[in-house]
Amino acid sequence: MCILGQIEGERMKNVTESKENNHDVIIVGAGAAGVGIGIVLKKMGIEHIILEKEDIGSSFRKWPQETRFISPSFTGNFFGMPDLNAISPDTSPAFSLLTEHPTGEEFAEYLVGISEVFDQNIEIGVEVCKVSKIDGLFQLETSRGNYTTQFLIWAAGEYQFPKKDSFVGAELCIQYSKIESFLNLQGDHFLIIGAYESGFDAYTHLVRAGKAVQILDGGDNIDLINSDSSYSLSPFTRDRIKETLSPKNYFKDARVTKVEFLDGKYVVSTQNNKTFTSVSKPIDCTGFEGSLALVKNLFEFDERYPYLNERDESTITEHLFLVGPFVKHRNALFCFIYKYRKRFAIVGETIAKALNIDPETVDEVLEEYKLGNFYLDDLSCCDNECVC
Ligand SMILES: Cc1cc2nc3c(=O)[nH]c(=O)nc-3n(C[C@H](O)[C@H](O)[C@H](O)COP(=O)(O)OP(=O)(O)OC[C@H]3O[C@@H](n4cnc5c(N)ncnc54)[C@H](O)[C@@H]3O)c2cc1C
Repeated sequence: MCILGQIEGERMKNVTESKENNHDVIIVGAGAAGVGIGIVLKKMGIEHIILEKEDIGSSFRKWPQETRFISPSFTGNFFGMPDLNAISPDTSPAFSLLTEHPTGEEFAEYLVGISEVFDQNIEIGVEVCKVSKIDGLFQLETSRGNYTTQFLIWAAGEYQFPKKDSFVGAELCIQYSKIESFLNLQGDHFLIIGAYESGFDAYTHLVRAGKAVQILDGGDNIDLINSDSSYSLSPFTRDRIKETLSPKNYFKDARVTKVEFLDGKYVVSTQNNKTFTSVSKPIDCTGFEGSLALVKNLFEFDERYPYLNERDESTITEHLFLVGPFVKHRNALFCFIYKYRKRFAIVGETIAKALNIDPETVDEVLEEYKLGNFYLDDLSCCDNECVC
């Protein structure tokens, strides 16, 4: 919960006047996106600060202990094929973590490590509670007083903001993002609502723990094959489930409409008129609302996703940028690190130009990001299907 301007019970003085709290650029969130764009700004010599409400990589630390990256890490950087999970072209989680599919905790360590290497200016324990734009400057009210900035980069992510109302009775379920470890869940039989990456992740770990599991798919994700990994289950997940998934435990076209607690049992009803029951709380894996609610007045939306111009800037608020998994252009959803990292340099380049940063330095950074395959400005490339 956001408590404005309070630290350890003491009311903070309003620090808008304090020079340290006025910045050229403020980045909100020190996850993969915030640290990644921070590195670009640092390399370009743009003054900035990252405000983080908890700790570097805190969302990754909140993943269930057993959960691992679905996208593989492999050190190919120096041959122009950077590690898919790297957030800067000169680093590789495979190299520093020595694993192909890091856990959330491991990946957070990678983020901490590279924040140190790039000497990132991160203020931890600062929660941004309210953002407004007054006379051309963003005013941020935070748990540690007020900040102002010319440019604001929103990188507050999605994981800590789950969907709460995908169906009636969602509050009776356990949200995937609240599970610390699947091994701690009490019970022998579980119903999983939602059969995409997080649903099948829960399925995999519970089956491995010897539990009986039924998974309810609102559509038909097993048969949905798409060349874009944002719209189709990953090979890692397909490999994990193929031995155990069967019509006895997987139900397609079973969109859940209601969950009730009746006579000591959870009763789950679906749109295709089926009911399922379990003694344990059903697990809600229907996804994330995202953090944009806090700045929703500063963006225009097309249902879930904000409209952005070709530089990932809000179409209604100049100098407000979005980085991370909620960036979407036409059909191209930048929800994986290997996708959204390709927009960091575009945002950096735009801000650098506006701040009249030395063009030679900026060009050097752009060259590095282009060579490292970390730069995508032609958005027409992402709409086509592969033929093989
Ligand atoms: C289970 C799971 C598995 C995934 N696997 C993969 C994968 O294999 N490969 C991949 O590329 N992607 C994967 N993703 C997607 C991945 O999580 C996101 O790409 C990534 O976490 C997004 O990073 P981010 O920096 O945008 O957000 P986050 O990592 O959530 O960082 C946002 C930060 O902002 C902070 N914050 C939030 N609100 C405020 C505020 N008001 N004030 C200050 N700070 C704030 C948070 O504490 C957090 O530290 C997975 C996601 C999930 C849920």
